[in-house]
Formats: sequence, C-alpha cells, structure tokens
Amino acid sequence: MKLLIASNNAHKVREIEEILTGYFDEMVTMREAGLDIDVVEDGKTFRENAVKKATEILEKSGFDATLADDTGLCVDALGGAPGVYSARYAGEAHDTAANNALLMENMKDVPDGERTCRFTCCVALARRGRPVLVVEGKAEGLLLRAPVGENGFGYDPYFFYPPLGKSFAELTAQEKNNVSHRRAALDALRKALDAENAAR
Ligand code: IMP
Repeated sequence: MKLLIASNNAHKVREIEEILTGYFDEMVTMREAGLDIDVVEDGKTFRENAVKKATEILEKSGFDATLADDTGLCVDALGGAPGVYSARYAGEAHDTAANNALLMENMKDVPDGERTCRFTCCVALARRGRPVLVVEGKAEGLLLRAPVGENGFGYDPYFFYPPLGKSFAELTAQEKNNVSHRRAALDALRKALDAENAAR
C-alpha cells in the first residue's frame, strides 16, 4: 500500500519514513504527489485535528492510506496551554519568537517546582474501508526561563528534558529523534500495525 504523508516538513517526513520503513510499499509527501490540500485545524484536541487531517486528505487525494499528525506543547501551570494552539499561540502569524515570548510572559511568576510540561504528538492513519488508527506519544519536561541551545525548532530551546539533562535545542537531531514525542507516537503506530498483522 502506498502511503501519503500529510506534511511537507522535511524533518518530520524523514523521521516518519525512517521509522515506518517496511510497513508500506512506498511513502510520498503532499509535495511529491503534487497535492496542495488545506485542512482547517479547528479541533479542540490533538486527536480531533490529526483524525480530521488524515481523513479529509484521504478523501480529497484519492490515496488508499494517509498519515497526519498534530503536535503541541502543554504546560500544566497554564491548564494545558498552548496545546492545540501551539503554532498560533501569539496569533495567526505562526511566529515562533512571538509564541515563545508570550509563553515566557505568562509563565514569569510560576516557580521552578511548578514548570512541568510535555510535548504531545498525535498521529492518525486513515485507510480506505478501515477504521482510523490513532496513537499518541509524549515527552515530559520542564519549562526553562530563558532559551538554551541552537538546534531544533519551535519551543525546543525552552524545553528542558530531565533524562538527558539538556534542553531539546541542545540535542542533535538524532538524539532528539530517539526520545521525542513524535518518536513515541510513531513507535506506538508500529506496534498497532504489528498487532493488526498478527491478528490476520
Ligand atoms: P505541528 O502541528 O506539528 O506543526 O506543530 C505545531 C506547533 O507546535 C509548531 O508550530 C511548534 O511551535 C510546536 N512544535 C511541534 N513539534 C515541536 C517540537 O518537536 N519541538 C518544538 N516545538 C514543536
């Protein structure tokens, strides 16, 4: 079966292709397939958004299988914000610097012991004639007060990952891929596909 990956983010796509090698005959991105399908991410949860993206793109693309994800940072002291609004926390401009600045402003009075947060990645696999498979992965951390590290993207410089004693932006791409929320979600997807195959 040929899989359409509903993303043009090169970093994400490489990770997905590496982890799902062997599970599909071929994997292509929207760009490679010459598709430009815009899905409005108006769900209240990562799950709703990931499922909506995967199913709408399945219908509109004509492919037999589509994979979509929705990801964000949830901060406990902010009741789970920015959450599904992670990309547009400071407005529709999708401005990483503005998002990080607003997050720091909202967290400035929160003491060190109460800065727990997590990245959550929800992945949905839609296939024709089958129920949508949805899995989730998380990475638990602490929100820093100032950026540390030059790598990664988005909220990475503010996300301290205790098991490695570094921020996500201090990790190499390979180090981050080994422990990331996306990695956890894709590992869970592999397990779900293995279970399906075993049940056949
Ligand atoms: P997306 O829906 O996966 O594109 O992610 C939404 C937003 O969450 C992005 O704009 C980033 O700000 C943030 N984000 C997603 N994944 C990561 C990550 O691995 N590190 C840092 N920020 C991330």
